[in-house]
Amino acid sequence: MDFPKKCAGKESLQRVNYLLQLANQLSMENPSSHIASLQYTNLAVSISKKAVQRLDTDIKRDLCKRCRSILVAGVTCKIRIKKKKIIKRCLKCTQAKIFNTRMKDFRPWSQKEESVIQLLDYTPKESPPIISDKLIASDKKNN
Ligand SMILES: [Zn+2]
Repeated sequence: MDFPKKCAGKESLQRVNYLLQLANQLSMENPSSHIASLQYTNLAVSISKKAVQRLDTDIKRDLCKRCRSILVAGVTCKIRIKKKKIIKRCLKCTQAKIFNTRMKDFRPWSQKEESVIQLLDYTPKESPPIISDKLIASDKKNN
């Protein structure tokens, strides 16, 4: 018997993803809704901690470490390049994140090929039949 492998913590992953998207959208559309955006990011981080799932490196780099607000360039943070370093400064609490760019081929471990062990496919196997107008039109020509 070949059972499909289950994704551990799928619900919490979906929830964290949804909350971070919502926080990002809120902070992009309306800077005055900063507190609501902050609530969503706090909730997403606490859910990931409770489910013992790490946030992705790209997501971590877009969150302020002090106040946990989402760092959107020009809206909630300003980005400067000084001495080959990228400096993201949060506009709410002035906390800075500094990324060194001196190493040319630097990638986080999660983005390297050796970090992927196995890819799991969760797309539904039985898709509903697609009826297109072109097929119906060609059938009429044949008859
Ligand atoms: Zn901050």
